[in-house]
Amino acid sequence: MDEFELIRRFFPQADADGIVLGIGDDAAVLEVPPGYQLVQALDTMIEDVHFPAALPPADIARRLVAANLSDLAAMAAIPRWMLLSLAVPEVDANWLAAFAEGLRSAARAGGITLVGGDTTRAPVVSLSLQVTGMVEPGEAVTRGGARAGDGLYVSGHPGDAAGGLRVFAEGGENEALYRAFAHPVCRTGLARELRHHMSAAIDISDGLYGDLGKLLSASGVAARLQLDRLPLSAPLVAAFGEAGARRLALTGGDDYELLFTAPAMPDRLPGDVTRIGDIVAGDGIECLDGDDIVDFRDPGYLHFQ
Ligand code: ADP
Ligand code: MG
Repeated sequence: MDEFELIRRFFPQADADGIVLGIGDDAAVLEVPPGYQLVQALDTMIEDVHFPAALPPADIARRLVAANLSDLAAMAAIPRWMLLSLAVPEVDANWLAAFAEGLRSAARAGGITLVGGDTTRAPVVSLSLQVTGMVEPGEAVTRGGARAGDGLYVSGHPGDAAGGLRVFAEGGENEALYRAFAHPVCRTGLARELRHHMSAAIDISDGLYGDLGKLLSASGVAARLQLDRLPLSAPLVAAFGEAGARRLALTGGDDYELLFTAPAMPDRLPGDVTRIGDIVAGDGIECLDGDDIVDFRDPGYLHFQ
């Protein structure tokens, strides 16, 4: 199978609004509705750096889409189109079919459509996905808007994805945690719902503690983080104990959840949003367990150090 047949077979153009010209020409032509700003992001995943080679290909695809949709959600953008750079060591039709199906279903669920890409050979599976979303002018939520007095909130159950990856890597089984890792939910809906409440937002793919540090630096403020309010899931605590679960929630990474600040929130917090602290003047993170100050430091996930 040559590259062109591969593209035709596994990456046919799906229908969606705004695609003037999709997969098959030299480049895609897209119609942007008047009055919107474009929001773009790109994420790369390399075999054995970002995912174990043994991970089912559909789950690799789901995580690739989720990582990118998570960046768009953290800006409160509406997902629209994506481009895939696919580099594989060989043409393995079963692997490609499963990968393409995972990509299609995750894209459909996330409201985004593949409109092009590039296909090439590489020593290990190397994937890049570039996404384009759109947002009402001036309404993108950045990392830089947190102010002293804001509440600090997180969505979902941080730590579950890292717990799932750890169980998988050790050859164990834990359906709930594995699903959190392999079938991450995208928080676009939540971000769109709360965008007028949020003063700053970031996704916590590199770990809550490290990503909180980035939000605080960008905003020029500090946080008091209540470790006793971290929304640890029951399966995570059952598998790793309270202290292990807390550590995974703070430093595990791989969660495509939102961490955000807000001066005021709706009276009823949306389903799985938890207030985990407060923004204060100064810099850095003060961790508390109840009223006690806890010594905790972690730089987050760094590729180069
Ligand atoms: P070129 O040689 O001009 O780069 P390609 O052969 O790489 O063209 O791509 C042909 C068409 O197929 C383009 O529309 C491109 O966007 C699309 N394409 C290539 N690889 C992929 C892929 N993995 N997924 C989706 N579309 C792809
Ligand atoms: Mg090309």
